[in-house]
Amino acid sequence: MSRIPLVCLLAMFTACAVPPPEEGDDEEEESFEESEEAVGEGTVEQAMSNSCSTTSIRPLSQQIIDEMRCIDPDGFTALPELSNVTYSTGVFPYLIAPARDALVKAAQSKPSTNFHINSMFRTVAQQYMIRRWYEQGRCGISAAATPGNSNHETGLAVDIANNSTWRNALESRGFDWLGPNDPPHFDYEGAGAVSQRGFDVLAFQRLWNRNHPDDIIAEDGDYGPQTRSRIQKSPAQGFDIGADCEP
Ligand SMILES: [Zn+2]
Repeated sequence: MSRIPLVCLLAMFTACAVPPPEEGDDEEEESFEESEEAVGEGTVEQAMSNSCSTTSIRPLSQQIIDEMRCIDPDGFTALPELSNVTYSTGVFPYLIAPARDALVKAAQSKPSTNFHINSMFRTVAQQYMIRRWYEQGRCGISAAATPGNSNHETGLAVDIANNSTWRNALESRGFDWLGPNDPPHFDYEGAGAVSQRGFDVLAFQRLWNRNHPDDIIAEDGDYGPQTRSRIQKSPAQGFDIGADCEP
């Protein structure tokens, strides 16, 4: 599995001894806010063609997250309920634990001010859809990382609606503001920042193989043509056999 240390991702042009991304736009991020749409009856590819929201594949995404938490129960942690924190439709409220703790402290620093989260964790299947919409010029997507390469797949990224209100509180606790090209986007770079990149891809590959013993693909955490074609064929409603924490 290719797991590039976060510090290297952020210093790609300086001194880190890691290979560059295969595509020049891999690091491009996008603000993406979901709308509520019905879960698709068919495949991810059909859901991609028929909707502009990844809520149409929500059960499959939930299976991928559940499987990720089987692989590494400590890798992703859910945000606790906080009175001033609200979410857009379809947000999966997971971050790595140090990022979660820093975000909670930031939100609690102004407990009477709304802290609205547009987007947080995304699965590789969701990122596949967003990337395809971008490639097709659909659904208002102006930029999108390739699947497997969005920071929203790492457990470190969050999009905040009223970001200017919360910038100081987040930056002082280890979050880096991406800047004016994507104002809602922050990446956690504070103590304990370890990217979980690739775990969502690995989780998908395990789910696929569990459900398709006659069509086994590599469980390497890398998004490539094999994984892409299986994501396209996967059911929006999730696989018959879901996450399994007992290997
Ligand atoms: Zn973002």
